[in-house]
Amino acid sequence: RKGSVIITGASSGLGLATAKALAETGKWHVIMACRDFLKAERAAKAAGIAKENYTVMHLDLASLDSVRQFVDNFRQSGRPIDVLVCNAAVYLPTASEPTYTADGFELSVGTNHLGHFLLSRLLLEDFNKSDYPSKRLIIVGSITGNTNTLAGNVPPKANLGDLRGLAGGLNGLNTSAMIDGGSFDGAKAYKDSKVCNMLTMQEFHRRYHEETGITFASLYPGCIATTGLFREHIPLFRLLFPPFQKYITKGFVSEDESGKRLAQVVSDPSLTKSGVYWSWNKASASFENQLSQEASDADKARKVWDISEKLVGLA
Ligand code: NDP
Repeated sequence: RKGSVIITGASSGLGLATAKALAETGKWHVIMACRDFLKAERAAKAAGIAKENYTVMHLDLASLDSVRQFVDNFRQSGRPIDVLVCNAAVYLPTASEPTYTADGFELSVGTNHLGHFLLSRLLLEDFNKSDYPSKRLIIVGSITGNTNTLAGNVPPKANLGDLRGLAGGLNGLNTSAMIDGGSFDGAKAYKDSKVCNMLTMQEFHRRYHEETGITFASLYPGCIATTGLFREHIPLFRLLFPPFQKYITKGFVSEDESGKRLAQVVSDPSLTKSGVYWSWNKASASFENQLSQEASDADKARKVWDISEKLVGLA
């Protein structure tokens, strides 16, 4: 049978390119888990994904109710889950004030980390029902959360501190909207959320790899400077960022190429090692990359996990 893969945020950018790359092989059925149903349908059509190779299902990661509803709907669909790709994200670099999810969490960490945390925790038990030979749970990371890289050192740097803001619920009322308890900074909130993504992947690996055989992985797909991720940025930045990445840093990667990379992490038989953060070199060959000290801190990973469980109502 075909593999069955859920991709969050498959209505644009990396998620859409990955859906296309997998669907084209004829070996995958892609469940596009998206907040805007019509946009996702149109995007799939425009990308030329054949009807029999995808299904759009509604998921708004900025609402825990919606996450639970999605899981119910998915179960009722009777489809198996073989691979889950947590890809969706928001990036709000120019926001001067925090905005919030339906549950009152700062929007970037609430969507990118907490929504995906609940989703992947709930779907973990559904993997048991799959007989697919190589089950995988992939959480898209980023170089920007990695302070051991040049890109990760562009201020404001990611820093989760002692997690006091996260522990307080990131609601900006009786506590800060930022994980470290500091004042709001949209670019930093995004980077912090990506550190949480990478820590969560490793904590999943430590807790569940042996027991379930699932491969847990994260990746940095390259700088895909043309995606919607930068839609909130100032116009001059949006104009100059793609050529800057193409000709100066040479970290630029097209949406097509990034989709092929993520599709590799989903399906390549040689990428089954669990607990790995994948990157690609200039010749577009995959390699196991090192994470920064904070993004590989096992103690912090456990703490983020425990606090997140409470925030999403699992503990
Ligand atoms: P896009 O903005 O193109 O795609 C993000 C997707 O997330 C969109 O489909 C968007 O939906 C969806 N999304 C946003 N909020 C929600 C929500 N509340 N519920 C459900 N879906 C939501 O950006 P990219 O393709 O660039 O980003 C994809 C991933 O790649 C992210 O995890 C990002 O951190 C990562 N990444 C990107 C890099 C880059 O250079 N672009 C570099 C490194 C990592 P909608 O279409 O409705 O807006």
